[in-house]
This record gives sequence, C-alpha cells and structure tokens, in this order.
Amino acid sequence: MPVSPAYRPDPQFPSLGAEFADPVAAADFPATMLRFRNDRAAATVGLETLSDDEWTAHFGRFQPLPGNIDPPLALRYHGHQFRSYNPDLGDGRGFLFAQMREAGTDRLLDLGTKGSGQTPWSRSGDGRLTLKGGVREVLATAMLEALGVPTSRSFSLVETGEALQRGDEPSPTRSSVLVRLSHSHVRFGTFQRHAYFEAKDRVGALVDHVVANYYPDLAGANDRPAALLEAVCAKAARLTASWMAAGFVHGVLNTDNMNITGESFDYGPYRFLPQSDPNFTAAYFDQHGLYSFGRQPEAVFWNLQQLAGCLSLVTESDPLVEALNGFSPAYRRELMAAMLGRLGVKPRGDEEDAALVQVSFGAMAEGGERLRWEPFFFDWFGGREDRALTGPRADLYAGADFAAFRQRLATYEAERPERLAHPYFAQAEPEELLIDEIEAIWSDIAERDDWTAFHAKLARIEAARVAWGLS
Ligand code: AMP
Ligand code: MG
Repeated sequence: MPVSPAYRPDPQFPSLGAEFADPVAAADFPATMLRFRNDRAAATVGLETLSDDEWTAHFGRFQPLPGNIDPPLALRYHGHQFRSYNPDLGDGRGFLFAQMREAGTDRLLDLGTKGSGQTPWSRSGDGRLTLKGGVREVLATAMLEALGVPTSRSFSLVETGEALQRGDEPSPTRSSVLVRLSHSHVRFGTFQRHAYFEAKDRVGALVDHVVANYYPDLAGANDRPAALLEAVCAKAARLTASWMAAGFVHGVLNTDNMNITGESFDYGPYRFLPQSDPNFTAAYFDQHGLYSFGRQPEAVFWNLQQLAGCLSLVTESDPLVEALNGFSPAYRRELMAAMLGRLGVKPRGDEEDAALVQVSFGAMAEGGERLRWEPFFFDWFGGREDRALTGPRADLYAGADFAAFRQRLATYEAERPERLAHPYFAQAEPEELLIDEIEAIWSDIAERDDWTAFHAKLARIEAARVAWGLS
C-alpha cells in the first residue's frame, strides 16, 4: 500500500535557501535489510500503510516520498563541542529527507537520517552508522519516550550490508541507516553558523522560519528573537528536567546536538543511571565529566547562552539576558512536575513539591548501591506504601534513611491511580535500560543475528510506556 490519506507533505526547510543546506544523494548500499519499523510513529504521519518493500525503498534507498524533499538536504551547522567552537560541522552522515504534518496536532515533523552516506560535511568520516549505534538509538528513544522525555523517535532501522571500521567497536562491524522522526532539526548550532559569518539577515530569516513553523504564537511578539529565546529556554528546561527524572545521561550535550523545539536527539554514548550518581559520565571521551548526569542543567544553560549570543546580532542584549534568566526558575518548576509525574502523584503546591523532590533525591542518594534508579519510581508509583513495603526492597524503605521521604510522600494523593491496575505494576521488577542489557541484546545480534531479544525488549518498553501513561 502507498501512503495513507493522513500523509500530508509540507517541505518548509528548503525555502530557507542555499546557505542553509546542500543537496546530496544517499549512499548506494550493497544491501537493505529492514530491522525495525516504527508503525506507531508512522501512523502519526500517514506512512504506516507502506508495505515493507515500499518502506525499504524510501528508508533504505531513499526514493523521495511523494511531494517531498528531492534531493535530500545535508543541513549546515556549526557548534561548540566540549566548549570549543567547531566551524567544520554539518550533516556529515545524515540529511533531511522529508517534512510533513502530524495527524491530530498539525505539528511540522521531519524525517532525518543518520548513516545515509557522505556529504560535503563528512570531513574524513565515512558517512555511515554502525548497526550497533542504530540499535542503541532505537532502544534509547523507546525508553525515553516511555519515561515521558520529549525525544525524537526512531522511525526506521535498515541494515546496509557494509563492513565498518571503528575505534570504539570490535571491527569490522556491521552498518545501518537510521531514520528519525523529529520536531525540527534546527539546532542551536544552525544559528551559530550564520552568526559566525555575521550574516544578520540569515540569523533573522532563521528566527522567522523557526517562529513561523514551531512557535507560531510568537509571530506578533515585539521582540521576536528575545521571545523565541524565552520559549526555547522554557522547552530546554522541561527537557533537562525530564532527563533528570528519567536518570538519563545524554553524554554529548554539544550545541549541535540541541534543537530549538526542546526534543533531545542524536543518542551516541548515552547511559541510563544504574543508581543515583551526579558524577556519572556516559561518554568515555568526556574525561572531565563536563556532561555528567548532575551537570546537565549547567551544560544546557551554557548552550542557551551561546544561542543568546547568536541572537544578539538581531536584537538588544537586555531582553535576551532576561530570557536566559527564565531558565533557572523554569527548570525548578519542571523538575517538580517531572518528579511528581514519575512518582505518579498530584501536585500540592510549590513549597511542598520542592520539599518532596529534595527528599526523593536525598533518599535515592542514601539508597546508594542498594537501590537502582528505576525500581525506586516503580516501587513508589502512586505514592502507595503498600507496594513499596511489601516488595523486594521493603527492608531498605523501612529504614531510617527513607523516613523523611516516606513521611512526605504519605501526604500526596495518587494521580490517575487506575494506572496501577496495569499488569506492568504486578511485575516483580520494572523495565530498565542499563548497559549490560543493551550489550546482551547486541551480542545476540552480533553473534547469531538473533533479533528476538531486541524486539522483546521493545515490546516490554512499550508495555511500560502504556502503564506509566507519561507520553
Ligand atoms: P555526532 O557526534 O554524531 O553528533 O557528530 C558530530 C559531527 O561529526 C557531525 O557533524 C556528524 O555529521 C559528524 N560525523 C560523525 N560521525 C561521522 C561519520 N562516520 N562520517 C561523517 N561524519 C560524521
Ligand atoms: Mg550530532
């Protein structure tokens, strides 16, 4: 079957012009083996009706979608990587493949690739993605979505039959091309590139493009760039808070990995925390822990400051500073909302909720090695002592370290308590996505081409998503 009537192509990015992207061609892969298709995501853009052959033609061989971008566009951007400016970035192994409207919301969504071949921005890179990298990103996005984190969704993973050389994987290693569905691929680094060249007109055009397509409510603002920064700060605060409640360490919070709608994307060396640990660092090459778990809010704020710097080309700095000052209080509010969401309880007011968040983090820290991140939220979901105090961690929770937390939580009412009736909450243990399990899933694929554990894991994460009801 071809696309469904719900497919509404609306390529908007090309109108920004030649300075924003380069037309490219996808690599001609020796094979295209469909490994994963996200039909739930596809249904939101009218593409779930494609047969597997049609799917592979579009998302493995990149035949253009009807009425969409042709040829694909490698996006131009710069960025700060670990705080040093790199003017040689850009889509080096990906491109923007299609833009269309989301059913129900009318949001403009992108299909973008990772591993689709070389571009003018590949530098010495091969333009490819390892299959393991693709598998890891599919798992990350599923888990993040289940935990209520605003994230890009993995749309398709096709294995491409090449042998790649990588320093961080036993090589040769298998290859893949990933397609992600995302609410824009405009990065902070997109603004940085045009600011770097002092192209005020292009920074202005990009502000207008972003406002028109992603923040239409700001179209009438007196100071559009400052209003946009304020809105991006609010979205970034929500995103960061949701990572902190999910126990997620992105690993590479460079400005080219942050988009302007506050969706996280581009998951390389990420980790989910085994247990509470502010110093936990995901990327082996992040020797100084710049992007460690506890420093993520600071990293995001630093990135927002760089975006503000770009916008200072097109407006006064006072309103930009004011917008930046909104990040901290917004982050605090969002952290409360995210933590209450994960605990499944109703808000009681700022002061009370802030205290609950504090004792929650305190209790998790006291739990140390004895308490993993996810079981804490699973055991206490809905604020119900009966589950926590009869479960496998009852002894720990009954102790003095948890007294302050238990006392506070007892004053809270469950939010949508009917969720506890989902069979997921009768499981002995919650769904987690820790490194050992990812490695085990990968080794089944690597050693025996056995995808059973991968698909079973995705099905269990999906059950958790439905049970939590956070996204
Ligand atoms: P990332 O770490 O995936 O965010 O990538 C940072 C930059 O390096 C981006 O400009 C990527 O396009 C580029 N890049 C990463 N890996 C490759 C590769 N294998 N080939 C070409 N470019 C790459
Ligand atoms: Mg990136």
